Amino acid sequence: MDELKNKVNEGLALPVMEAFYTIQGEGTHVGTAAYFIRLGGCDVGCVWCDVKESWDAGKWPILAIEEIVKGALEYPGRMVVITGGEPLMYPLGPLTKLLKAQGFRVHLETSGAHPFSGEFDWVCFSPKKFKKPHPSIYEKADELKVVVYHNSDFEFAETHAKNVADTCKKILQPEWGKQDQFLGKIIDYVKSHPIWKISLQTHKFMDIP
Ligand code: SF4
Repeated sequence: MDELKNKVNEGLALPVMEAFYTIQGEGTHVGTAAYFIRLGGCDVGCVWCDVKESWDAGKWPILAIEEIVKGALEYPGRMVVITGGEPLMYPLGPLTKLLKAQGFRVHLETSGAHPFSGEFDWVCFSPKKFKKPHPSIYEKADELKVVVYHNSDFEFAETHAKNVADTCKKILQPEWGKQDQFLGKIIDYVKSHPIWKISLQTHKFMDIP
């Protein structure tokens, strides 16, 4: 058991809630086939989280990174998205290195709540009000994606936009359950603040994971 724990601490084995091949449904790379690796474990606690079952890492099998990569190699797409849970709870250097050595383009989806690690081709930073991001995320973010659930989320989005690079894509996305309430407001906001773009969770419209 201790040996397994050490491997997780070193990023050589990780708790995997699920891994599946699908279409990236949101953000800059929407529409692209991708293998998603959802790591178990999250201490952020978003009230509207749609994967609450991911929070307890202890519920999920711990897989060696070689085994995780083997799963990705079974499909023709060469884009991998590491998501969670909160993937930065673990050191991601070894897994991302191995994926890249196998020719994958490696993306991350994170709340940024833990220190940054890993080698990525694309980092989607989606800050949450429930746990402050670690400062290391700001210079790494290629995409700032703010989920709009409340009127105050526009101001929250602007606060984070000040800290990312100018080249970082800035995206507002209505929380799925609040789409009727916020889509119109987001459309108006983007029209008057054109540094932002709208993203919708198209995988939910397509009824795919
Ligand atoms: S950071 Fe993601 S996984 Fe964690 S609680 Fe928030 S939405 Fe859920």
